[in-house]
Amino acid sequence: MEVALVILFFILGSAVGSFLNVCMDRLPTDRSLLRPTSHCDSCQHPLAVSDLVPIFSYLWLRRRCRYCQALLPRRPFWVELGSAGLFAFGYWYYGLSIDLAVIIFYCCLFIVLAVIDLEHGLILNKIVYPAVVVALIISAFYPPSGIVDLALPWPWFGLVNSITGGAIGLIFFLLPALIYPEGMGWGDIKMAGLIGLVVGSGLVLFALLIGIILGGLVAGVLLLLKVRRWREAIPFGPFLSVGTIAILLWSSDIINWYLGLFF
Ligand SMILES: [Zn+2]
Repeated sequence: MEVALVILFFILGSAVGSFLNVCMDRLPTDRSLLRPTSHCDSCQHPLAVSDLVPIFSYLWLRRRCRYCQALLPRRPFWVELGSAGLFAFGYWYYGLSIDLAVIIFYCCLFIVLAVIDLEHGLILNKIVYPAVVVALIISAFYPPSGIVDLALPWPWFGLVNSITGGAIGLIFFLLPALIYPEGMGWGDIKMAGLIGLVVGSGLVLFALLIGIILGGLVAGVLLLLKVRRWREAIPFGPFLSVGTIAILLWSSDIINWYLGLFF
């Protein structure tokens, strides 16, 4: 394990994180991802290449624009730090591998979905639908978990695991939504289906249950503390994202821990 490579992945993750921020800013409002290049919202000054690793410039300049000194929003910093940490941890944990590439790609996808849901209360179709197509293509080459080990030729093994996972996720969220339509949005249901496609039929319920339990705990705490901002409805997407990312990163550890509770 090369420390230099872990640091390199941290910097790469930070740069990818700044692109994820652009996605979070522009996708909900139909702006182009490519133009204009990133700029300060206050003085419109384009960001220099040295700002490509904004964690350092943020710490150095105390979260202020270097041109107009305006205080910059907090979220980009945390997204960049999170993405940098994800890349560095992922490389340290998985090494250079297909696992690493697939897991990092999906984690980035679910980070973007989570933050947009947190900020806008929306799970965007223009992210979910293309993600469904990409998840199916990936599943053919990199099969997700299955409930039963089917002996199927390529590409059906991965596709069947993925599609049955998607169906389980959809049904699991569709049933409560049909009984109590106000409780859950269509966005959450589609996202549950996407999660099933990504993690496969063997893990989809784990990912969703982690999200449901976390969401319930946080909702309970916010209710007790009477946090005004979330009095009406707490977006569910961020919790589903956390559950999915946890499963993507640590599925075998989580399942062993869970089984250890009983055996
Ligand atoms: Zn500025």
